[in-house]
Amino acid sequence: MSTSKPNPEAPNNAEGAAAAPAPTNFVREIIREDLRTSKYNGRVWTRFPPEPNGYLHIGHAKAIWLDFGLADEFGGGTNLRFDDTNPEKEETEYVESIQEDVRWLGFTWENLLYASDYFEQLYEYAVQLIKKGKAYVDDLSADEIRQYRGTLKERGKESPHRNRSVEENLDLFERMRKGEFPDGSRCLRAKIDMASPNLNMRDPVMYRILRASHHRTGEKWCIYPLYDFAHGQSDSLEKITHSICTLEFEDHRPLYNWYIRELGIFPSQQIEFDRLNLTYTLLSKRKLLQLVREGRVRGWDDPRMPTISGIRRRGYTPEAIRNFCANIGVTKTNGTIELAMLEHFVREDLNKRALRVMAVLKPLKVVITNYPEGQTEEMEAINNPEDESAGKRMVPFSRELYIEQDDFREVPPKGYFRLSPGKEVRLRYGYFITAQNVVKNAAGDVVEVHATYDPATRGGNAPDGRKVKSTIHWVSAAHAIDAEVRIYDNLFSNPDPGDVPEGQDFTANLNPNSLEVVAQAKLEPSLTSAKPGDRYQFERLGYFCVDPDSKPGKPVFNRTVALKDTWAKVEKKQKA
Ligand code: ATP
Ligand code: MG
Repeated sequence: MSTSKPNPEAPNNAEGAAAAPAPTNFVREIIREDLRTSKYNGRVWTRFPPEPNGYLHIGHAKAIWLDFGLADEFGGGTNLRFDDTNPEKEETEYVESIQEDVRWLGFTWENLLYASDYFEQLYEYAVQLIKKGKAYVDDLSADEIRQYRGTLKERGKESPHRNRSVEENLDLFERMRKGEFPDGSRCLRAKIDMASPNLNMRDPVMYRILRASHHRTGEKWCIYPLYDFAHGQSDSLEKITHSICTLEFEDHRPLYNWYIRELGIFPSQQIEFDRLNLTYTLLSKRKLLQLVREGRVRGWDDPRMPTISGIRRRGYTPEAIRNFCANIGVTKTNGTIELAMLEHFVREDLNKRALRVMAVLKPLKVVITNYPEGQTEEMEAINNPEDESAGKRMVPFSRELYIEQDDFREVPPKGYFRLSPGKEVRLRYGYFITAQNVVKNAAGDVVEVHATYDPATRGGNAPDGRKVKSTIHWVSAAHAIDAEVRIYDNLFSNPDPGDVPEGQDFTANLNPNSLEVVAQAKLEPSLTSAKPGDRYQFERLGYFCVDPDSKPGKPVFNRTVALKDTWAKVEKKQKA
């Protein structure tokens, strides 16, 4: 007996599933048409129906954006309804995180509801169907039901209990509720058609016996409705006009409509769209839970996770996610979106809002030998060239600085224009400096560079008009604050994480280098006041966000995304 929802990875055999991609706004067009024909008297009401069995992920963001966005657009409203019919997997922690995530994405629900609030009503509906001769109590085991069900090629077989009298069914169903029978020994099934080409219509199970404590109803119930029996009826009770869900529910639509029709209740309309898939990313709560349970990540909100809480901690913005959702389109065929496209929208948004600062991740000390010892100058720096109102700040400059190890080469390769002996570069907002000689440790590594500066180049230009090919960032050694910086790479090395050799699971594709911890980064002192959640651009390095693990005097930063925009390249290639 399948206790929950369709498997999104299963092939879709409904009519029309393989049709050409619909226009990107086909859901909106359906709503427009319904408004034109006054199908629901001008009402547009949607719901977002998460099962509280895990944290929301970026795929849910697409559903949320559609449900809330479309209702908003047409002056309607959206219910947040927890589809909590699977007591064994559901927890209050998930209920709370889901609410926080929807709010963070920028959406407001009209009503906060639970399918479990309808348990009594759903029970009444079931009794109604029994009385109509449309439902019966079956004594077959879950395995037997599966065998009797048949296959796509083979019709199903009727259960020997299918023709019980209404009285007997009413009696047995009531006794199921009272707890007279052991778990799994009986169930209630809809009496539809064992020969239907749609397997979902072959007398689907409506209720199962299960002694499990429910996060809201506790021990009150020992029978629980199955998803298909709960979902449509909950929609109908809430007078949902457009019940938008993902394509794997398409085969379930005839059943959704059958229950509503047989019960004669409000005719909510189910509309299916393509679920979001992203390269290098798994969007399945079950698999994400496995990563958490097995300790492969630090938790649901690990910044490498595609959960809303993970990407929030990483520094993604709700605006970036909404822009991404608006751009990927809504269709009738499942596809896969490049992760680079999501990152592109994150970069685009952060470029507008993130303050620029200087930070050195892999420090190399530079001593400016002709700069007065003990002197400090304040250099004026621009906070955000994209936003004049962000203003300016002062950055201290002194005789000893840190630059990136990568910005110095004792023996520069061809085409290397950064610092090397005898070469001059510009220090951002500072002076031109020329490297003179190096200090090495016993192992022969360069540990310090000695350089000279040209006092006439303050602010970054030479009065004689001479040019330098490179501008590098720096931090004053005496003023720097130490920080831990966590650099993330894709959680999976394979663009399709589910693609594994036989006998292995998706964890075989985990990227062993998805987290690099830089323990001793040096930051400019203006970052002393940075608070968890604050986002910055570290010049030349990328966008970074303060992690809640930060302690006073020891901030921790997450790299949100590097500066390089691989999506722009992909897009260019696609256009060419
Ligand atoms: P998962 O497969 O990750 O466990 P789910 O479909 O079981 O997800 P629900 O809590 O039932 O998770 O999801 C709530 C809503 O979000 C449903 O309407 C579902 O169709 C939608 N949804 C889930 N995953 C995606 C996705 N990848 N893209 C778009 N919508 C999604
Ligand atoms: Mg699922």
